[in-house]
Order: sequence, then C-alpha cells, then structure tokens
Amino acid sequence: MKKRVGVLALQGAFREHRQVLENLGCDVVEVRKSSDLKGIHGLIIPGGESTTIGKLLMIDEMGERIKDLGMKDLPIFGTCAGMILLSKTIIDSDQYRLNLMDTVVERNAFGRQVASFETDLLVPAMGPHLVRAVFIRAPYLREVAPNVGILSEFEGKIVFARQGNLLASAFHPELTQDLRVHQYFLDMINEHWA
Ligand code: GLN
Repeated sequence: MKKRVGVLALQGAFREHRQVLENLGCDVVEVRKSSDLKGIHGLIIPGGESTTIGKLLMIDEMGERIKDLGMKDLPIFGTCAGMILLSKTIIDSDQYRLNLMDTVVERNAFGRQVASFETDLLVPAMGPHLVRAVFIRAPYLREVAPNVGILSEFEGKIVFARQGNLLASAFHPELTQDLRVHQYFLDMINEHWA
C-alpha cells in the first residue's frame, strides 16, 4: 500500500523532504495544523530553527498531538532541528520540545568555524557504502539511554540514532542524492503498518 507521510511544514527544509519522499513513491502531506496529522503513516520533522518550530508547535497544541502520536508508536523522523525537538533534554535551554526521545542533545555543537560541512558517514545499518551527510549548524547527542540505538557517530559524537519508532539525525539527508536514509525510515513505516 502507498504510504502517506506527513512533513511538518511550519519552517525550515520541508520542501526537500517532500521531494525525496515523492521520489520513493510516497504520498506527502505538508503538516501545518493538527487536522493535517489525520491519516498519516509517519511524520518527518525537518531541519530549521528549533526554537521557531517549537513556538509554532505550541499554537493549537499541535506539538501535544504529535507527542501523543509518537507515544502511540507512529514512526517519526527528526532531522537536525527535528532531532533537537524530539529530545527530552536540551543542554542549557528550556525551549519547547516534544520530549519523546531519551536523549541529551547539544545545539550548534560543532563550533562556529566549521558550522556547516559535508562528510561521509559509516552507517552499518545501511551497509558498507558510506552515507553522504550535510551538517548545518548541527546538534549532536551527548548522551543516550540504553534503549536508544546508535546508528552512526562522527568524530566520537552521536549523529544518528533510533529509539523504537523514533529516528533522529543531526545531518540533513534530504540535501543529498542518497535516498537510503529516507528509505530506512520508510522501512520503519512499512514494518509498523504491516
Ligand atoms: N541550529 C539549529 C537549531 O538549533 C538547527 C540547525 C538545522 O536544523 N540545520 O535549531
């Protein structure tokens, strides 16, 4: 069955996610209000500015709706700002968050000089071919609970992790030609709805 995937479209890099999901054969819904969440099989929270997205999520309690869905095992993938929003603990910040993943995240964690860069990551779950990853003022996970699986690290920092139905990357997989990260998320969706 063709899957219907929501992309949170309040702010940030949502159009690029839409394109990749369509290339993988999904129906895509741009989520701007709570009612757009109805009937989706999975949700992507894009990169952007996590404080801005967080403020917009408080309107109409859309964040709480998303949190409920996440707790009911809806597959949710947060990239960059999305990783920040999924985390329970954000170092030195009381900004709004969805509070779903047992992770401690640090924002803008790669320093000012190298704020943005590209690299090739080893992601064993995706086979031996390295995954091209674009980092833009990226966070990383400083700590994860034992129930969180680490999918990839870069220079000793956790940049890709999964906790059951929740997936989080510090990088932007939607900005490369490599579809494998989105395909991995789609596999999670297909398993969930099988
Ligand atoms: N630095 C941003 C934040 O802290 C995240 C950057 C991104 O999503 N590319 O929200």
